[in-house]
Amino acid sequence: MKNFTLAALLLWGAVCANAQVSGKVDPMVQKIVSEVSAEKIAGNLKKLEAFGTRGDFSDTTSKDRGIGAARQWIYDEFRSYSPKLEVAFDSYQVKKQGRIWRDVELMNVVAVLPGTTQPEKRIVISGHYDSLNIIRRAGAPAPGGEESAVVGMDNEKSADAIAPGVSDDASGTSAVMELARVMSQYKFEKTIVFVAFAGEEIGLVGASLMAEKAKLEKQQIEAVLNNDIIGNDVGGDGQTANRLVNVYSDDPNDSPSRALARYVKETAERYVPGMKANPIFRADRFGRGGDHTPFAANGFAAVRFTTPVENLGAQHSERDTFDKASPSYTAMVAKVNAAAAASLALAPSAPAVARVSQATATTPARVQPTLARGKTMYDAQLRWTDPKPAADLAGYSIVMRSTTSAFWETEIFVGKVNEYTLPGVNIDTVVLGVKAIDNDGNQSLVAAYVTAPYAVRHIELQGEKK
Ligand SMILES: [Zn+2]
Repeated sequence: MKNFTLAALLLWGAVCANAQVSGKVDPMVQKIVSEVSAEKIAGNLKKLEAFGTRGDFSDTTSKDRGIGAARQWIYDEFRSYSPKLEVAFDSYQVKKQGRIWRDVELMNVVAVLPGTTQPEKRIVISGHYDSLNIIRRAGAPAPGGEESAVVGMDNEKSADAIAPGVSDDASGTSAVMELARVMSQYKFEKTIVFVAFAGEEIGLVGASLMAEKAKLEKQQIEAVLNNDIIGNDVGGDGQTANRLVNVYSDDPNDSPSRALARYVKETAERYVPGMKANPIFRADRFGRGGDHTPFAANGFAAVRFTTPVENLGAQHSERDTFDKASPSYTAMVAKVNAAAAASLALAPSAPAVARVSQATATTPARVQPTLARGKTMYDAQLRWTDPKPAADLAGYSIVMRSTTSAFWETEIFVGKVNEYTLPGVNIDTVVLGVKAIDNDGNQSLVAAYVTAPYAVRHIELQGEKK
């Protein structure tokens, strides 16, 4: 009887521990979210607009007009926030090609806040500071769709034309700067990288170059939170939406980017309940792209934040001005970024849920998910590894959803174990994943058990000529 009571108490203890870690609020993250200022963002927006243009081919010598003055100001601002920020220009001498109509030097402005215990893990928060006003050649045919908008553009005239680019994308840049100001007053386990990209308007150039470099250097980027067009809450058609932000993530449904989108939704609900992160299960707006795209294409988890009510008539013209902006809306989107980035930067890393077999002379490397049917053949037996478990690890949670559900439906906190069996759960009909949680409630991204897509192979026939 005594033993039974003890067992019951232990079980109760486990249930309580579960309640304590799952959905727990970290006061530090709450404080960071509360410090994001709409007034500071408004100041940044006005200043960025005041450069006249931030066009990629605009003046680089003037002290107050053009992209040169703008990038120097962003650099100086980053420097002023905290001595802990390592600020640099990430510069490239880009050759003439495609929409890049002449050789040009492009500079991303980067501020790195080094992590304390997991500095190799990186969280990127970004926006693009370049702007564009499309001036059309005399007699050029009227633009049809989005893709043809740059056809017929007068490059020389567009280069120095006034291009305030307040929503696109001084808004994202202002949010990134405000987050750098607030977050650089704190310490995080992982490294946070604040980036203002150049060259977005001429083909995602600055982001593509940085993503390519990150892949080559085998950088461990856990997340890219890209903010592009988060400046207005009234659309060109008069529709309003000031408590909603769209979060785009690329397929497939358990891609790293999709896991990040779910994470953003969950942390927004926890820390910014007045704002809804609205996941859109699509790479970007229809037929369009952004600076998160090259990161996702290089295998990193990357999402894009955009207002659900774009002012398409004002974009890429002299009409994308501060009078249409809502700094308080941009601040809300910045808070959603802060909640996700701070949580992730304080959290343990996700466990590994697959074994990678070495490639041999005849077979390529294989990724084998460590999910089986157990001894009974009718259970779900989950295994995971965590080579460097966090010092403040509370344990792991298993998450489950039906294959047709968008979001995780069930969460089971299983403690500090590396194996768990869900009796009677058919692994064919559900999606399963595992995440790590620390004592403060900060959670890793979910590592989902996924199988590799079927590889098409040719079946050789007798007498077939090679
Ligand atoms: Zn943009």
